[in-house]
Amino acid sequence: VGRSVGPEGSDVKRAAVVGAGTMGNGIAHVFAQHGFEVQLIDLHANQLEKALLIISKNLDRQANKGILSEEEKSIAFNRIHPVLQIKEGIREADLIIEAATENEAIKLQIFRELDEYALPNAILASNTSSISITRIASVTKHPSRVIGMHFMNPVPLMKLVEVINGYTTSASVTEKIIDL
Ligand code: NAD
Repeated sequence: VGRSVGPEGSDVKRAAVVGAGTMGNGIAHVFAQHGFEVQLIDLHANQLEKALLIISKNLDRQANKGILSEEEKSIAFNRIHPVLQIKEGIREADLIIEAATENEAIKLQIFRELDEYALPNAILASNTSSISITRIASVTKHPSRVIGMHFMNPVPLMKLVEVINGYTTSASVTEKIIDL
């Protein structure tokens, strides 16, 4: 009763994506298309500009195919907010998906920062292809909220997402992500 829900009945209302490369732009696109406000974060302004251009082109393609109306296309695009600072971009997010460069040191540093600045109940997900979720979770103070969400490229076309538990991922976090 009184539970506030996000788009499509999800517990997640606001998402943040860290890394605006190949995967990050696709993940941001899909969340925005399905009604979520998305903060898209990258260290480099040129990567953010490039990502917005790609998302815009991919939304155009969907509109041309009749998957989205012109209005839905622009609403989706306007839900994506580019940000340069992790601290600022993740402030209000219920779900943060890390899709930065596949390098363990980089990811561990990002998760330390996510753990420090995210909302207490935010879920921290990694799109890593090969790094242990347990190891990533181990640098956080709340490893039960860390999980793997492995999207496929190109994200707006590929419906499969692998959900990967670490040893410490809580059952309720897994359930929320599978629901989503
Ligand atoms: P990419 O090189 O295209 O993009 C990585 C982005 O991360 C870059 O824009 C970079 O500037 C940014 N970045 C690096 N450090 C950062 C930091 N500290 N803060 C914010 N942004 C930072 O890489 P990609 O192909 O999109 O891969 C991203 C992740 O997704 C990797 O973990 C990879 O293994 C995984 N993945 C990739 C694919 C694929 O087909 N490309 C498929 C599934 C999963």
